[in-house]
Amino acid sequence: MKDYKAKPNSLKGRTILVTGAGDGIGRAAALSFASHGATVILLGKTLEKLEKVFDSIVALKAPEPVILPLDLEKASTEDYKLVADSIVEQFGQLDGLLHNAGLLGPRAPIAYYPEHTWQQLMQVNVTAAYMLTKALMNALLSAPSASICFTSSSVGRQGRAYWGAYSVSKFAVEGFAQVLADELKQTSKVRVNCIDPGATRTNMRKDAYPAEDPETLPTPEDIMPLYLYLMGDDSIEVTGQSLKAQ
Ligand code: NDP
Repeated sequence: MKDYKAKPNSLKGRTILVTGAGDGIGRAAALSFASHGATVILLGKTLEKLEKVFDSIVALKAPEPVILPLDLEKASTEDYKLVADSIVEQFGQLDGLLHNAGLLGPRAPIAYYPEHTWQQLMQVNVTAAYMLTKALMNALLSAPSASICFTSSSVGRQGRAYWGAYSVSKFAVEGFAQVLADELKQTSKVRVNCIDPGATRTNMRKDAYPAEDPETLPTPEDIMPLYLYLMGDDSIEVTGQSLKAQ
């Protein structure tokens, strides 16, 4: 899929929400969707980062994005409802949802893994994705063929020592995507797939592998073909898949 080339206007007229849009892979996805014609809703924790992405998208002369600051660790049911209501009011529907925000946590044996961090990772990596998907379901069902993408990892497909809550949370993400895909394929045109980005040059990767030379890794921009494929009409029949971006 890394050789996929999306048509320049493949996402024209679409509204796509990206979580963790202020940095790393989410930032690249937001810019990439916008440059293919989508109006992107930039959800993230740090307002200043979202504002910078906003400015970069406007500089591309792409459709003006929407900034949506939200801390996925703390957001309540009411917060998610407000997000959904404002999307429906402004756009009537949601064509794409990229669950990308994530926390890494420490590498530690389970016996020493800090409980607070475990809960925090489960909240941000798994529960927030459930709360957001649930709140946005009507908006997604209102689109002619919406696409939901989850972000997993190689350690969400094969467990690895010391990767603790991160690995377990990514297995949960894979399971959630499968359950939702199976549910929605019976009753709707919403497709649901899971992306493993592979080793990518971001702050998270640097935290996980501090001794690695980042220059040896693909950039977030390099892995965008799969993201564009899954958001565009070429993947309209694809659902329930776990795919690799590299
Ligand atoms: P980064 O750490 O660069 O970016 C993570 C993003 O998630 C940031 O924009 C961050 O916002 C956001 N985020 C974190 N916590 C919250 C929160 N509580 N509320 C809202 N937003 C939050 O990571 P990557 O770009 O590398 O990772 C993106 C996804 O890809 C993750 O799900 C990760 O697990 C996955 N992945 C990455 C790989 C890699 O090699 N890079 C490999 C495999 C999977 P802020 O900056 O404002 O805190």
